[in-house]
Amino acid sequence: MKILTWNINGIRTRPSIKEDIESLDADIICFQETKVTRDMLEEPVAVVDGYNSYFSFSRKKTGYSGVATYCRESCTPVKAEEGLGGVLASGNGDVGCYGNLGYYGKEELESLDAEGRAIITQHTVRNSEGEVKDLAIINVYVPRVDSERDDRKEYKLRFLTLLQTRAEALLREGSYVIVLGDINTSHRMIDHCNPDSEEFNLRPDRQWLNRFLWSEGQDSSLEVKDEQELLQISTPDTKSGQFIDSFRYFYPDQEDAFTCWCTLTSSRVTNYGTRLDYILGDAGLVKSSLKACVQMVEVQGSDHCPVKAEFSLDGVPARKAPPLCAKYMPEFAGKQQKLSSFFVKAAKKESVNASEEVIELSSSQSSQESNKSVDSNTERKRPMEDSGKPTGKKPKLESKKSSEEGKQANLMSFFRKKQSSQTKPEPAKEKSTNERKSSDITNGNKIGDNDRIVDKKPVDASEKPVKSTDTKAETGKSSSAAWKGLLGGLGKPPLCKGHKEACVMRMVKKDGPNRFRQFYVCARAEGHSGNPEARCEHFEWLDKNKKKK
Ligand code: ZN
Repeated sequence: MKILTWNINGIRTRPSIKEDIESLDADIICFQETKVTRDMLEEPVAVVDGYNSYFSFSRKKTGYSGVATYCRESCTPVKAEEGLGGVLASGNGDVGCYGNLGYYGKEELESLDAEGRAIITQHTVRNSEGEVKDLAIINVYVPRVDSERDDRKEYKLRFLTLLQTRAEALLREGSYVIVLGDINTSHRMIDHCNPDSEEFNLRPDRQWLNRFLWSEGQDSSLEVKDEQELLQISTPDTKSGQFIDSFRYFYPDQEDAFTCWCTLTSSRVTNYGTRLDYILGDAGLVKSSLKACVQMVEVQGSDHCPVKAEFSLDGVPARKAPPLCAKYMPEFAGKQQKLSSFFVKAAKKESVNASEEVIELSSSQSSQESNKSVDSNTERKRPMEDSGKPTGKKPKLESKKSSEEGKQANLMSFFRKKQSSQTKPEPAKEKSTNERKSSDITNGNKIGDNDRIVDKKPVDASEKPVKSTDTKAETGKSSSAAWKGLLGGLGKPPLCKGHKEACVMRMVKKDGPNRFRQFYVCARAEGHSGNPEARCEHFEWLDKNKKKK
């Protein structure tokens, strides 16, 4: 049985999800960050011939977060359930088995399951001994930490603790358990291109992952001994060391084995990334049945690559898919229910459930919270194209823009392309060195720590390499500023000090005295500071003489 996880970064923008699924070649395919809510789900995505599919949707915002699991008919699950805490259970065909939820309030459980971050399928399998067992697959998209929002740090830790509570409860019932997905945490220093050596192991989400995983041979100094800290990442009922990282089981010390790269800085060509995507199996299952685990870095089309594991298990398909299966949704069940009546119902339901987030039902764009707007979507695809590296299947850009937004996005991409087309950054030919020293200018020394800029490197606060922080509101301003620059007759871009190649222009996006100021940096892809093929340290303001700090 082959099981795959992939943060697909938007399922609706794929040219054909059926082709994706077929080419990935796995029995159970788990996607995260589908960015699809029920109001947007269309039949070709929901119902794929030969598979049955299960979705969890965000109840807070449309087009945000979301996970989906597709199962080959040979592995049709017996049960399926949305969420971790039971509050979304339908009362029909649920997986059940929640563990002790007494440490969570009802409102908290509702909040933790309101973002469409978990789907559980339970399958019947036969192991190589011929024994028939249950296998629960928990597909999760763990929240990303926003360094400026303490409530999201807390949210992430509570999510992780709830995940562990559920996974261990299923395990106690005698089921095999696999937790997989975008865990949004790099585990060890070798899982991060630029680990902060002082703080790295102290971060609570990392301590949670350390604790969750099987710890034979693990550095005991990493054990959390402080009671307060321990309570932050566990409940008195959660145990430790029951799961194994499938990839590290085979490749315990492999360096540069990343699964996520910042698309904006082309850091995939220099392999300057992080490992955030995992297949974590219970120790009994992994030791008896895990045959292989690969990170499919050749698969393009998202800022993450897929991870696939093969187990010596045979699926025993259920005769009928559980009620949560997407093909039973009234909108796909051929019942001719009027779409308009469905949407009204969905909208009402969402507004009731929205407690803390702004509802954006009218928006068809990706969310602002995930920092991927029209402009950044356009921009994020560019570096790969400009690098001259074959990109494989490229997702189409969102087509449902308003004409105004579309125009602005196009202007910006035209402008940036023009800037960068004067020099094509070459993909790095050599593997980067192991040098960990950070001397990258974009991390703040020359700009000031408060300025988050467009092409910031992956930092610890948000595991995922930071993408453009444009918001829709900024798009207009950014493009008008860019046009002003263009019409004002920008001269040739300066040559970078390291390579004597034309620089690219970027803009400060974060609030602060330097907001919207433009600057030049080396056009090459971001990489380790010791890699001569990667971006050099060149930095200069476009308006050198103005409001210099
Ligand atoms: Zn350079």
